[in-house]
Amino acid sequence: MKKVIIYASDSCGYCHQAKKFLMDHHISFQEKKVDFDKQAQMEMMQMGAKGVPVIKVNDEIIFGFDLQRLEQLFGKQVISCPHCGNKMNIPKNRGTLKITCPHCSQMFQINSNT
Ligand SMILES: [Zn+2]
Repeated sequence: MKKVIIYASDSCGYCHQAKKFLMDHHISFQEKKVDFDKQAQMEMMQMGAKGVPVIKVNDEIIFGFDLQRLEQLFGKQVISCPHCGNKMNIPKNRGTLKITCPHCSQMFQINSNT
């Protein structure tokens, strides 16, 4: 499980979009509101951020609402089972995955890198 912290402001549209993305992908995150939180403002400055949102994922820092990067980190893709055609979601960019089809129990490998 990745540790996700978002530095955000209530008046920032991209912050809302970033939070919506995380919620849509069922990613739990901690929010630091820089409007009121001096400590959070300091942390942001130390990271070299010039504005919100800043999304910290483990040790990686994403400046702004970088949808492409977020998709890379958290996105899902839909594949179908080669045996029965059952559709399922798998994570992206995790290398070769061993999948067991929940429908027919067929096991197969798939390259999740896109
Ligand atoms: Zn199947």
